[in-house]
Order: sequence, then C-alpha cells, then structure tokens
Amino acid sequence: METNPTPAAAQTVHVPSARPLDGRVAVITGSTSGIGLGIASALAEAGAMIVLNGFGDAAEVETLRHVLAARHDVAVRYDDADMSDADAVTAMMANTAASFGPVDILVNNAGIQHVEAIETFPPEKWDAILAINLSAVFHATRAALPAMKRRGWGRIVNVASAHGLIGSAFKSAYVAAKHGVVGFTKVTALEAAEHGVTCNAVCPGYVWTSLVEKQVAAQAAAHGLSEEDVVKKIFLADQPTRKFATVNEIAGTVAFLCGPFAGSITGTTIAVDGGWTAH
Ligand code: NAD
Repeated sequence: METNPTPAAAQTVHVPSARPLDGRVAVITGSTSGIGLGIASALAEAGAMIVLNGFGDAAEVETLRHVLAARHDVAVRYDDADMSDADAVTAMMANTAASFGPVDILVNNAGIQHVEAIETFPPEKWDAILAINLSAVFHATRAALPAMKRRGWGRIVNVASAHGLIGSAFKSAYVAAKHGVVGFTKVTALEAAEHGVTCNAVCPGYVWTSLVEKQVAAQAAAHGLSEEDVVKKIFLADQPTRKFATVNEIAGTVAFLCGPFAGSITGTTIAVDGGWTAH
C-alpha cells in the first residue's frame, strides 16, 4: 500500500523527469489541427509515441507527422479514422495496439459545431455532432479500457468545453454532447479508479482555432458586424479575462493530467476558460 512519505523524505524535492511519458502510447483524436495538434505536440515533447487522427490534406498531414517525430524523437503514426463511424474508431484502437502496443493515453478531442435555433436545427447535424463529440468518446474508451486495466495504468482525457458545464443559445447539439462527455467522464473514472486508470475532462473556453474562426465569420455575416466586433462583443464578452485561452494552455493541462503528479486526479473537470464558468 502507498503511504505518505516520512518527514525526512518529504523534505527532499522531487524533480520530475524531462520526458515523463517516455515509451507511452498516446492516441489523440482530431489532432490534425487546433487544440488536438497542440496536445499531440505536448505529449510528444513528454516522450510519448503519438497516433495522429483527423481530416486534412494527405501531404500536409504527412509533413506534420514527420515534423512531430523529428522534433521530439518519437514514433508518430497517422490514422484517418472517421470519428462518426463506430467501427472505424474501434479499428483505430486495434491498429494502434498492433503497431505500437496497447494504448496508455487516450485523448478524446475530435469535435465539430453547428450553431442554429432548435426549431430549424438540421437533424443530420444533430446526429453528426452527437456521433463525433460524444459517441466516439464512448467507442474509443470502450476499446482502450481493457488493456489499461490489465496493465494497471492509463490516462483518459476528454476535451469537453465550457459548454459541458453551462449552456448557450443556438448550440443545442454541442451543449448536449459536451454535457454528455462530462457525465461519461465521471462514470469512466469510477469504473477505472481501482485499476490505476484516471479519466478527466478539460473544459476550454474560447480558443482561436478553425472551429471558432468559422463561427466568428458566420456571426459577422449574420449581424452585419466586423469580425473584430463579433470577437469583442459576443465571444470575449463571456470570458472575464477578455482573452482567448490558448492552444498551449489546453495542451499543457492535458499533459499535466497524463503526467506523474496527476495519479489521484480523476472524475473531475478542469475549466481553462478565463473565468467564464465562474459566473
Ligand atoms: P479544429 O476544427 O481546429 O479541430 C478539430 C479536429 O477534429 C480536426 O483535426 C478535425 O480534422 C477533426 N475532426 C473533425 N471531424 C472529425 C471526424 N469525423 N473524424 C475525425 N476527426 C475529425 O477545432 P478545435 O477548436 O481544435 O477543437 C478541438 C476540440 O476542442 C473539440 O472537441 C472542440 O469541441 C473543443 N473545444 C474547442 C473550443 C474552441 O474555442 N476552439 C472551445 C471548447 C472546446
């Protein structure tokens, strides 16, 4: 049984390894751009072998793969699994195990958005958002858990959102899916806790990525405002810091949750949202 250190031992300073995830296998869904790519870089820097996933131009994705591998001296694979397809998600996990070994770290990050009133919200958009933002988290976790439990170590981090904690008008599917992710995170944590496997949700506020860029452009067109005004009056009005959170801040939080000091953090949400959900 692990006990607290003796007073003498407690006085020694524990210096973390520069590459605490050396040899770990990490799958990051939706990591060809934005937050997911930042997380892949942070985990590679910590020494993990990386499986990239997501859409994008084949040559650009190949360049990303090479750059990440060379910069951090780790093996990097790319899997083009579509997160809206349950069988593809399961196959991605199996292919990873076959080529790199069992998955130690799973970051469920892939996500899409659609902004529209409920009355006119297209059902096919609802289905796609629920499939990619929520059901894929279940399918990947389901595939990852057996080996993590067997090996007595695992880290699952779900990139939810401030919208996993609070609602916003016109984002019904996204808010429903992200609240679902937060609930699923708690259940995963409870089922895995005795096996050395943690599961947490990171809840970003607004981060300047293609997902937000598209929303800003659409709102600017809808309201006849400049994009600068939309950012100031609509998006950053929610965030008390009046600043976007950064990809690096989200990636650093995820890396911390995967690291050696986070073993007792499980079933929780960490908001990286400039104080938005403190209201
Ligand atoms: P992004 O659009 O830059 O990246 C999304 C990634 O998901 C891309 O790699 C894309 O190719 C991939 N993807 C989309 N559909 C996919 C599918 N069907 N199968 C596989 N991959 C798919 O967006 P982002 O802002 O980096 O978003 C990443 C996550 O962060 C999402 O879950 C999003 O909901 C969440 N988030 C973002 C913000 C923000 O302000 N940007 C805020 C809160 C939460």
